[in-house]
Amino acid sequence: VEVGELRAASNTTIGSEPRFKAGALKVRDLSMAYGDLDVLKGVDLDIAPGTVTCIIGPSGSGKSTLLRCLNRLVEPKRGDILLDGESILTMKPESLRRRVGMVFQHFNLFPDHTALENVMLSLMKIKKMPRAEARRIAEARLAEVGLAERKDHRPAGLSGGQQQRVAIARALAMDPEVILFDEVTSALDPELVKGVLDLMANLGQQGMTMAVVTHEMGFARRVADQVVFMDEGRIIEAGSPQQIFDSPQSERLKRFLAEVL
Ligand code: ADP
Ligand code: MG
Repeated sequence: VEVGELRAASNTTIGSEPRFKAGALKVRDLSMAYGDLDVLKGVDLDIAPGTVTCIIGPSGSGKSTLLRCLNRLVEPKRGDILLDGESILTMKPESLRRRVGMVFQHFNLFPDHTALENVMLSLMKIKKMPRAEARRIAEARLAEVGLAERKDHRPAGLSGGQQQRVAIARALAMDPEVILFDEVTSALDPELVKGVLDLMANLGQQGMTMAVVTHEMGFARRVADQVVFMDEGRIIEAGSPQQIFDSPQSERLKRFLAEVL
């Protein structure tokens, strides 16, 4: 069976409920600067509902800044970002926090709270959910990422891979339309990387809309519907994994691939 078929099937139904509310993202002429430093220079990008977009490119090319713009951790200086046709630049912050999830390289878990509490706190704070309901959903999400048994551990008592899976469970618990992943395996010991990538691949197959900044070219080739190559604040090339990895057009992408592959 083709991955596309699996995705189409899982995207429409599990029972009668869609697994995820897959959202569409459109980035239009997006520019962003830190002071005088222009970091994004007119980025246009379409991410279709239920698809995985991997963003690759050299360090400093603006990948993290692009993701930060997508959930407004930073404000662009020009352009727009549409989530299901609605500009996120005018959306209520609480609404955006719910609809667009983000997972970071360094997990950003609360160190003094257990895995379960980390997931519950987001639900109670952002979704204003009563404690009992938050607990029920947090337990279900942690079970989904394989951490039912570790839910009462604090971050320090979990491996890096397990901490990252807590962070993913926390993002999933919001029931988001899109999840952004910024180099989420870069800080992990090599033996822990695969478990996290497999979990992400699985979410992608189930129809979660994902934008994934990654150095894992194998993952991008295997899982992405679309691969985007950035350099110096611009998208240089975008296309299928086959197009990007097997027939790169620009010299810059050829050079980048020669260095990383
Ligand atoms: P990437 O994720 O592709 O490595 P970033 O988006 O982190 O790139 O950074 C793009 C550029 O913006 C780099 O030149 C970086 O040094 C700069 N930059 C990133 N964050 C900040 C910041 N908070 N303040 C000033 N400059 C920043
Ligand atoms: Mg980065």
